[in-house]
Amino acid sequence: MTQEHLGLFDTPPERDEIRFGIIIVGLLFTAFFLILPVRDARWLAVPAFIPVIDSIMLVGELITATLLYAQAGVFRSRALSFLATGFATAALLLIPHALTFPGAFAPDGLLGSGVNSTAWITISRRAALPVAVILYVLLKRTDLGMQLGMVRPSARIGVGVVAAIFAAAGLTSLATLGHDLLPQLFLNRTDQISSDMVVVQSVLLGLFLIAVAMLFRARRSVLDMWLLVALVGWLIETFLIMTLHSRFTAGWYGLYVMTVASHLVVMLALIAESNRLYARLALSTAARKREREARLMSMDAVTAAISHEAGQPLTAVSLESTAALNYLTQPRPDVTKAIASLRAISEATQRTFEVIKSVRVMFAKGAGGVTEFDLNDLVRETAHLFDRELAAAKISLALALYKELPPVRADRVQIQRVLVNLLANAVEAFGMTSGQAARKALPDSRIIGVRTKQLDSTDVLVEVGDNGPGLAAEELERIFDPFVTTKASGTGLGLSLCSSIVEDHGGRLWASSGEKYGAVFHLTLPHSSRLQGKRS
Ligand code: ADP
Repeated sequence: MTQEHLGLFDTPPERDEIRFGIIIVGLLFTAFFLILPVRDARWLAVPAFIPVIDSIMLVGELITATLLYAQAGVFRSRALSFLATGFATAALLLIPHALTFPGAFAPDGLLGSGVNSTAWITISRRAALPVAVILYVLLKRTDLGMQLGMVRPSARIGVGVVAAIFAAAGLTSLATLGHDLLPQLFLNRTDQISSDMVVVQSVLLGLFLIAVAMLFRARRSVLDMWLLVALVGWLIETFLIMTLHSRFTAGWYGLYVMTVASHLVVMLALIAESNRLYARLALSTAARKREREARLMSMDAVTAAISHEAGQPLTAVSLESTAALNYLTQPRPDVTKAIASLRAISEATQRTFEVIKSVRVMFAKGAGGVTEFDLNDLVRETAHLFDRELAAAKISLALALYKELPPVRADRVQIQRVLVNLLANAVEAFGMTSGQAARKALPDSRIIGVRTKQLDSTDVLVEVGDNGPGLAAEELERIFDPFVTTKASGTGLGLSLCSSIVEDHGGRLWASSGEKYGAVFHLTLPHSSRLQGKRS
């Protein structure tokens, strides 16, 4: 089964997309070389140009930030929320940028700005992006292991947005109120002090180079690729800024047009990508729903078969046991007849087991036979089937998968059925009102954990635990008996089938109580090195 990618964050770019990205970078370079020779030509000063351009960029960057926050929510990724916050800060700084720009709304700009305020706001804006990318790359590494963290995504996004507002307000105050504390960059409203500007832009250039290098090394996804394109765009723009001498020149207008164009291209590319991924996700969700429905249908058929087939011998057991009791409790017990009844009970019980065995064979229909596979992959894949159910029931899933787990040789389909059963039971456990739930308050956060481990030189271990109501000591063994259920619509067959599947594979399945709450199901399977060892 191929691994499914769900977002901009984890889908590798396709060849065409990489080609498109390279073309955009090529066009930006071409624009740079076209602008360079004519950069100092003075054009008509149109101060209204800035509010117009800033408004376009504000909308574009807010859309990009929203898109990134949405992905951060889906992946519960700290890296993405930092990146989104960087974009949001840069976007918000566009507002004071337009307001303080000399001549746009007031001759000397609003907000009590000085000649350098707009320049410092632009610099903070440009610095926010590489800083966000650097943090994104650093945090991305730690994100991978905890994609299903415990922090509520909406809370983190809220913190991100508030941080962006504070950062933008703080930087604006520094550039306006703290104007005199900062070095001079402009002589007057239009002409800059080139030497000072070059120093500041060199620092920015350094930041961009670090961000490009780090992202290039850690690049993995479509998002990383488009961020790289954006970073290279900003890098080229920084080179251009370093060659400029004043506002309202061909180079200055060209710079803004380049910035808008590159930002819009990146934004459109990200929107197009996420739409494409959304369509793919919708299709695969529909397919998965069908798969699960088919599974449930076969479960219905199985239960109907059982109640029909096992009904008869069970009725016999009930009648014969009443009879045996009668024979033994009458004033002159009839031991011979009682023994005959007990024999009949034993036979009927045997028949019931036969029924269950045949049900298992039915269940195993379509099984792929014994293959060698990675149990961690199977756990991930199976956990994935529960994504929607877990989200709907507000249950967090924590996977702790042993890195160097040796492969197992087993019927993959059957082992997956066992895992599906254990996970479904764990999810359903949160809805139960019996057990500990009736006696003590359960924790607020609902967690299901799946752990894999190499147990010893022969076996691997999978544990599925939850912090639900758990099981009473006397239930721990009984639940593996057929027809033992506490659910109104339960069959009580799941665990019995699971344990016979596991035993058929030479493994073991048992339950214990969790440390504080809930139940843990332990499953051992021999790994293939042991099987190979046995054979040789
Ligand atoms: P069913 O799910 O149809 O009841 P099973 O054999 O799968 O059949 O489970 C038997 C019983 O074991 C359940 O009815 C439930 O009471 C108990 N059980 C199974 N898993 C858990 C769990 N994770 N937490 C608490 N009880 C559980």
